[in-house]
Amino acid sequence: MVFAVASNNPGKLREIQRILDASGHIAKSQRELGYDFEVEETGTTFEENARLKAAALCERSGLPTIADDSGLCVDALDGAPGVYSARYCGRHGDDEANNDKLLAALGDLPREKRSARFVSAVCLWLPDGRSLTAMGECPGWVGFERRGTNGFGYDPIFYVGEKSYAELTDEEKDGLSHRGKALALLEQAMEAFMDPQGEFSGAGTQVTLREKK
Ligand code: IMP
Repeated sequence: MVFAVASNNPGKLREIQRILDASGHIAKSQRELGYDFEVEETGTTFEENARLKAAALCERSGLPTIADDSGLCVDALDGAPGVYSARYCGRHGDDEANNDKLLAALGDLPREKRSARFVSAVCLWLPDGRSLTAMGECPGWVGFERRGTNGFGYDPIFYVGEKSYAELTDEEKDGLSHRGKALALLEQAMEAFMDPQGEFSGAGTQVTLREKK
């Protein structure tokens, strides 16, 4: 299937495209399709923002559209930076400044107080106005220093066990990451959701799936 992918974040796009490619889909980014716009993320939840972004590109492109809204929720900071992860330092998308600010906010708190989780909401918006959103989470902790060179965003300071996300190979990250889990869940339900006679036919127009704990 051909999907439009509503994102201008190169790190995120690379991941979404490689995960969808691995499942035999074709993912075309917003830029590749010739759309140059940013959606104002006015939602207060990952789910709401993912829907806003997916709907905006689907309306313009007419293609089934996938958008991810994601972020890092740190327990010691009452869930911050959360939906504001991309602009935690006050500017949008300055990864280095975001990492500096988060390391400074946690100071020398011991490891057991640095717990955090990455959350992703991946929304598939269809041209008929229905949407399927899948939530994925990855628990971990915020390290004391940057480690590794792979990935983007908070990858060098978010650790799962002893390794940061930035020290994982692409395959390792996709296998355990918040985004990998959300996309796997979406993939499992996508076909049935698109079938007008399928199990979701009576489920309403906006459906959200969560991982079983
Ligand atoms: P948004 O979903 O466009 O609002 O941006 C999410 C922000 O969360 C990104 O700019 C990154 O700072 C961060 N983020 C989301 N997913 C990841 C990830 O897999 N690794 C590192 N940072 C991430």
